[in-house]
Amino acid sequence: MRPISEAYKDFPILKREHNGHRLIYLDSGATAQIPQMVADRVVNHMLYHNGNPHRGSHILAIEASEAYENARERVVEFINAREREEIIFTRNSTESMNLIAYSYGLNNLQAGDKIVITVAEHHANLVTWQFVANKTGATLEYMYLDESGHLKDGEINKIDEYTKIVAFAHVSNVLGMEFPVKELTDKAHSVGAVVVLDGAQSTPHMKVDMQELDCDFFVFSGHKMCASQGIGVLYGKRALLEAMPPFLLGGDMIEYVKEQTTTFNELPYKFEAGTPNADGAVALHAAMDYLDSFGMDAIEAYEEELVAYVLPKLMDIPHVHVIGSTNAKEKHGVIAFTVDDVHPHDVATILDSKGICVRSGHHCAQPLGAFYKVAASTRLSMYLYTRKEDLDAFLDVLKTVRTVMGFED
Ligand code: PLP
Repeated sequence: MRPISEAYKDFPILKREHNGHRLIYLDSGATAQIPQMVADRVVNHMLYHNGNPHRGSHILAIEASEAYENARERVVEFINAREREEIIFTRNSTESMNLIAYSYGLNNLQAGDKIVITVAEHHANLVTWQFVANKTGATLEYMYLDESGHLKDGEINKIDEYTKIVAFAHVSNVLGMEFPVKELTDKAHSVGAVVVLDGAQSTPHMKVDMQELDCDFFVFSGHKMCASQGIGVLYGKRALLEAMPPFLLGGDMIEYVKEQTTTFNELPYKFEAGTPNADGAVALHAAMDYLDSFGMDAIEAYEEELVAYVLPKLMDIPHVHVIGSTNAKEKHGVIAFTVDDVHPHDVATILDSKGICVRSGHHCAQPLGAFYKVAASTRLSMYLYTRKEDLDAFLDVLKTVRTVMGFED
């Protein structure tokens, strides 16, 4: 295994300067940066092996098919799925979620049924279920949280015999909190509901194991784990995927097409219409190799160490308030906070003026903001290339924010 302390050297972007300062990237929850070796493997694929996967019998079509399917096999291994038929390539978590909503949700729910989600969901795992509820007559019910981001006692009992879908984030993109997957999944399965787990913020940062998690669907995005943008994954249990109708229609997802009728291809191709993102699949394959060269457990432990380092210092700054849990073990590299009287966009702009990138806004989780009465916040999010000196620089600038804005302290 490689030592994580070396990781930052692999990222050319971190050698950039911005506003006369070394660029410090603390927005990996939005998108992660790309190591040289991932870019090299993609460029090599594009320059020497580019062809249209599954179409044609010439060498380049064959090599592109191999690269694309090898990436699928690598995903099976990385998330410990059972078989390649369970892995569908999409553009991102959002598209994966839409595939589930349109293909499973619209066809399996009806009036009287319930969809249960948490109030902390990213809009990708929320607007989709509003849509399904509106179309089918099902009800959308929320499980609420306490101040520290944990599910309130008894909320799990909203999962009852009427519940058909339970959807929640494995790790919240605002709170950094890991929801109790086993408890929620066992409860959902005990009433015959399917579990949709949003792995966008967990897969990049910890070992995820489909057979252990036992969710029915799982989604994640390549760009949050050192691959390029435009490649994502939907994992689904085979029996469910087999029974679902296609989501998008067109080339490659068919078996036979006659003038009036079509039969559909087998899994996973039934859900992959049109020319796929082979470059993205190659990037994802390389990114999984890259992350595994350090080990996912080591990455998770390193991020916990970073949070344990920065969190108490952040909380010591007057007028700064951390949202959700203040236990470093529960933050998974994500800390959202507010500064009294200063809009998060101003906080982010002042940090940016010193070369430091953080996220500000509602983080695509507006119901959570409304629930906590914090419409917007600033978020720093870390990854394996983050260093303590980056966090020191962030803290130094953060301490100046209120005075820059004209407050006395
Ligand atoms: N779910 C969570 C928890 C996220 O943090 C994000 C993105 O930030 C998404 C879903 C959507 O990911 P994407 O924009 O890659 O589809």
